[in-house]
Amino acid sequence: MTCKGEAPNPDQPDSYRLPLRWDRTITLALYRLCLSGRPGPDRVLPILMYHSVSPDAEPGVAAYYRLCTSPTRFEAHMEALKARGYVGVTLSEGLQWLNTGTLAWPDARPAQPVAITFDDGFQDLYTAAWPVLQRLGFRATAYLPTAFIGETRRTFQPRGASGGVGVVGRPCLTWSEVKELAAAGIEMGGHTVTHPELPRLSWPEIEQEIRQCKDTLDQQLGTPVRSFAHPYAFPQERPDYVARITELLQAAGFDSAVTTRVGRVRRTTHRLVLCRLPVNDADDPTLLTAKLTGAYDWVGTVQRFVRFLKLRFRGPAPATAAAAPKATNPFVAPPNRG
Ligand SMILES: [Zn+2]
Repeated sequence: MTCKGEAPNPDQPDSYRLPLRWDRTITLALYRLCLSGRPGPDRVLPILMYHSVSPDAEPGVAAYYRLCTSPTRFEAHMEALKARGYVGVTLSEGLQWLNTGTLAWPDARPAQPVAITFDDGFQDLYTAAWPVLQRLGFRATAYLPTAFIGETRRTFQPRGASGGVGVVGRPCLTWSEVKELAAAGIEMGGHTVTHPELPRLSWPEIEQEIRQCKDTLDQQLGTPVRSFAHPYAFPQERPDYVARITELLQAAGFDSAVTTRVGRVRRTTHRLVLCRLPVNDADDPTLLTAKLTGAYDWVGTVQRFVRFLKLRFRGPAPATAAAAPKATNPFVAPPNRG
């Protein structure tokens, strides 16, 4: 899991644990009041973040934290996208569209791309999600923790996982399934080797997780992978960490990296610190549509504010990663990346 896998997830404010789902209530109110969702002058790319496509109800897990989407719900999501004129694309295709305004797509009709991503390399991407994507002509990106992808079936056993709820132990893809999906248009990306909480590692360990993951994927696929997904909640409140890991990703050969920062991607967003829209079984098509059109972006502001407050008053979480020189604003792309 990414990501939202800790229990409790330090990435979200405590208000999310209330029975009333405030993020849904506020988002739908904004959507219905047309305070967002209006087409703007600039291109904006929504990136959806899925994990497991399985019928696990995740009992006792608050809606915001769930990592599973039932196959029925997932199909409803994809049908809703199709009905509203969206096309599901890989992350690289979405970023190319963001940069150039051109979508490399076999259908010439005008379409709004939405990048669809799956973290953790679960087998159900192959068995449950892919048939739906294939039927609708959509593509997507899968982020793989390489230690759990084998010639024979392995299970998801994240290093040092503190919670994981229901996804630890789930079956992951095999290399033959990964190669079949890649040949059919699913983009593969890196998600470390053992899915650790990177900020708790030393910098040499972090570099090894990044480089070894990329080397394995490049070798297995016969072509360089270009995109990376940070495991677990992204420590956006630590510019020193963000600057250093961005350097490591670039040096390893990654062009883009997705995080758990909530929001949609603009042309000015740094390509190695991309935000996404978390999605799970608790998202009905109405909420999904509201998220796509921008009515959920306010959550990113709350998320950033809460994380900075926690850092200010509680201090940083235990970590061994050494500090690097501070970045002025790590989330804005340099001019040549816009
Ligand atoms: Zn993950």
